[in-house]
Amino acid sequence: MSNQNKIIIITAPSGAGKTSITRYLLNNLPNLAFSVSAATREARSYEQHGRDYYFLTPEDFKQRIQQGEFVEWEMVYEGKFYGTLKSELQRIWDNNQVPLLDIDVKGALHVKEQYPDTTLTIFIEPPSVEELKNRLQSRGTETAESLQTRVNKASFELSFKDSFDECIVNDDFDKACQKAEQIVRNFLQ
Ligand code: 5GP
Repeated sequence: MSNQNKIIIITAPSGAGKTSITRYLLNNLPNLAFSVSAATREARSYEQHGRDYYFLTPEDFKQRIQQGEFVEWEMVYEGKFYGTLKSELQRIWDNNQVPLLDIDVKGALHVKEQYPDTTLTIFIEPPSVEELKNRLQSRGTETAESLQTRVNKASFELSFKDSFDECIVNDDFDKACQKAEQIVRNFLQ
């Protein structure tokens, strides 16, 4: 199978380290391109529209749902929508690259359902929920309330880990990156 129309998804509970592993893969595998999601949450100070997310208003997002523009979308957190645009995957395929998606567990399962033969799903498992809570706390981006929401969601998401093609426990970051790279290289031509 050629690399045409392949999709790679890194998924995990928030704080499991998937964004750092995603960054490592993008730096080491030039065939991959980050799939920029659409989202309705506020941009963080260091984030840029079109690079980290396409930051959309809720109205714009809902209109795009109705027009069938998403491969998948989720209300990941209360009132906050996130989704993968079909046009984003097409943009990357047209560039002869393979999209790398950093999305939540339900979104990953939805994409896999639609493209079962060409999608690789990798689940990053935190060493423990306690460790995950510590990581989120030290990241400093959460309020007490949003931290608790993310921790609750993480426990739920961990129960889906057997639904993915591969699972990597992120107890040692360098080893987790190397394992992810090996899995992706095997999947790519
Ligand atoms: P954050 O707000 O921390 O950037 O992301 C919150 C969560 O939303 C993360 O788990 C992230 O992977 C997930 N996410 C980002 N983009 C998408 C997307 O397009 N679809 C889905 N289903 N989840 C996404």
